[in-house]
Amino acid sequence: MTKRVVLLEEGTAEMKGLMGSKGAGLAAMLQAGWPIPAGFIVTEEGCRAFCARRAPLSAEGAQEIGSAIQHLEQQSGQFFGDSLAPLLLAVRSSETCSRNTASQDLLHVGLNDVTVEGLARQTNDRQYALNCYRIFLQDYGQLVHDIPYALFEEKLEDISILDEANLEFAIAEYKRLIEERGYHPFPQDVQLQLKKAMRVISDAHRVLRPNSQQELLRKSSHFSDETQGAAVLIQMMVNGECGDHSGIGTVYSRHPGTGERGMTGDYVSSAASEGFNEGLDELRREEPEMYALLQDACGYLESRTNEVQEIQFAVDSGALYLVEISEARLTSKAALRSTVDLVDEGIITKEDAILRIQPWHVTEMMKTSSTLLPELQLLLEWADEIKALTILSNVDHPKDALKARALGAEGIGLCRTEQLLLSASRFPFVQKMILADSEAERKRGLERLLPMQQADFEQLFEAMDGYPVTIRLLDPPLHELLPDIERLNERGEHLALSKLEENNTEVQELDRVIRRVLELHEQYPLLGQQDCRLGTVFPEIYDMQLEAIFRAAVKGIRQGLWVRPEIMIPLVGNANELQDMRELVDHVADQVLGEEKRHCLYRVGARIEVPRAALTAAHIARHADFFSFGTDDLTQMTFGYSRHNTEKSFLHFAEQQRSMPSNPFQVLDIDGVGQLVEMALVQGRIRKPHLKAGICGENAADPASIAFCHRIGLDYVSCLPEQVPLARIAAAQAALLTEKQDHNENRQDVDISTIA
Ligand code: PEP
Ligand code: MG
Repeated sequence: MTKRVVLLEEGTAEMKGLMGSKGAGLAAMLQAGWPIPAGFIVTEEGCRAFCARRAPLSAEGAQEIGSAIQHLEQQSGQFFGDSLAPLLLAVRSSETCSRNTASQDLLHVGLNDVTVEGLARQTNDRQYALNCYRIFLQDYGQLVHDIPYALFEEKLEDISILDEANLEFAIAEYKRLIEERGYHPFPQDVQLQLKKAMRVISDAHRVLRPNSQQELLRKSSHFSDETQGAAVLIQMMVNGECGDHSGIGTVYSRHPGTGERGMTGDYVSSAASEGFNEGLDELRREEPEMYALLQDACGYLESRTNEVQEIQFAVDSGALYLVEISEARLTSKAALRSTVDLVDEGIITKEDAILRIQPWHVTEMMKTSSTLLPELQLLLEWADEIKALTILSNVDHPKDALKARALGAEGIGLCRTEQLLLSASRFPFVQKMILADSEAERKRGLERLLPMQQADFEQLFEAMDGYPVTIRLLDPPLHELLPDIERLNERGEHLALSKLEENNTEVQELDRVIRRVLELHEQYPLLGQQDCRLGTVFPEIYDMQLEAIFRAAVKGIRQGLWVRPEIMIPLVGNANELQDMRELVDHVADQVLGEEKRHCLYRVGARIEVPRAALTAAHIARHADFFSFGTDDLTQMTFGYSRHNTEKSFLHFAEQQRSMPSNPFQVLDIDGVGQLVEMALVQGRIRKPHLKAGICGENAADPASIAFCHRIGLDYVSCLPEQVPLARIAAAQAALLTEKQDHNENRQDVDISTIA
């Protein structure tokens, strides 16, 4: 049978699975001779077996835990529940808490109405003993019964000094509060206290929710479901807060806020007067040996774990104890700085460094600073050496192109030209052109737009000199380009009231526009004339856009730029549509590029956004140099969910119901939409092995989606400029993890063949 109670001195660093990471760490420290308070671990299985029933500890639990406690009693000369020399225990989770959860401990387990007097005698400080009891009651009420801290605090509202009389009053009030809330009286039986503490600490580990600072949300049926609890660490209490030569403190092996090298932290000696605290300086001056020991411990722990460490320590009557040791929780800035420094110091490799970066480290840094922190810049350079995916950016406006480059984008993966054409100053020209009756009239509108579009592309090519600029030809649904019919009718009524002549030019023009809008009206505009279908109905628009692209290219080439236009045909659903559009592109290119054609290696590609395009990818690939998967629309069309207001709509509900593990617009739905992408890629590459392909939906910056893109062999992901750093790191992590996985699989293969 596996051990369910393990003394710290019996443990090793490798026993993390059984003892929890904290317990195994402390065991290793104890073995190496560091001053660790005596203690033992009750494994997760032990907690489950011993604490399941509502009655006192099960018989085997009482026996196994009893002998571990006896061991502590022998070492300390104190006895659990003894009135004269009570042994008090600290009960903690043996797992390190996640980033958003506070660690939950129950300290001074073993205090009751009798033992508190024993502690008072032992420490010669009754006020201290009573205060320990008060805090224990408060933590017990909060952790075991979910009674909010605020209710305990209310009991102290009229108390200004916590002297002995007031502490006795508070203790009585706290006990009453527990009963008033309908719970059993606070147990005077120390064994029962220990059982309740073990049970709640083991269970709390799995139900702590992010951002719940103090309040625990706990499922009612402890130990009844399949989820894992945690091993529990039970240690002898060390009294650092009373008596001479005592104190408590916390040190970090590096600064947890900035990541700066060198030990930092805090220390409060029990002798320090209120409001006057010299911190670690006092310890360095008064107890240089202890200070040096802490420094050594920091160095030792870092070299053993390769992580920044936090040590909580206590000085009890002149003796130093390392009470709790855990991986330090760092700000993003500190995490980045310390990671880079650990590489610099030869403790970890660049690859280790990349793998330990968490998405929030990058997103938080991007929120707080417009420029890249030097450490992040360095990590990104390392990431670029590792990653296989190219990171492009979705950039509509020339000003964003420079930002994207500065953040490391290797080109533009999506420029939505409607963002340029439908700006307030240009929209009237677009509308005029759409509403024109004749081709000649339409061309006149477009002539005004041509130089404006050309200027946009000139700036994009300049900002992205040497890198691809993927330009999507105009793709909004037609109805977005038309004037509102109700407003036109209102205007008509107004003119009618003015009794203008029928041949008045304004009246005639209004009638014409209304007629044209009604002609173009569609019942389901979002499934109607948009994207390349719009380009088929109004080919002059695409003509103009292509002319603008190639004119800008010629200008750029003549200025010495390396121009790489990639022309994206939106929402292709049929190979013939792409074939027609490709002919148009080649025709305009021939006409405009002239001499410069050999310097302008443009590409023509298909936007894959409807399931049919994915299903017929092999045919579409015949005419495509690249595939660009618009995963937002592809998700919308595949699921039949609107991509807008997903939080308010069904999706939110579905996530709550666990029928949807995550929002597929944020995290690519690998089982469904991902399969379409993979299938289209495979089919496309059978036709054209070097077909370039990537995604540029909202989920293109999500690390799990990026890992999928890497795995299936896409060439690029394209995301917003500010997401580019995160995507670079995620792409490198995907490459490293895949390599590791392949390596492990190969090793397994070798083993199998050896056996055979
Ligand atoms: C998409 O559909 O994934 C996309 C990025 O295109 P748009 O947002 O322009 O529809
Ligand atoms: Mg789209």
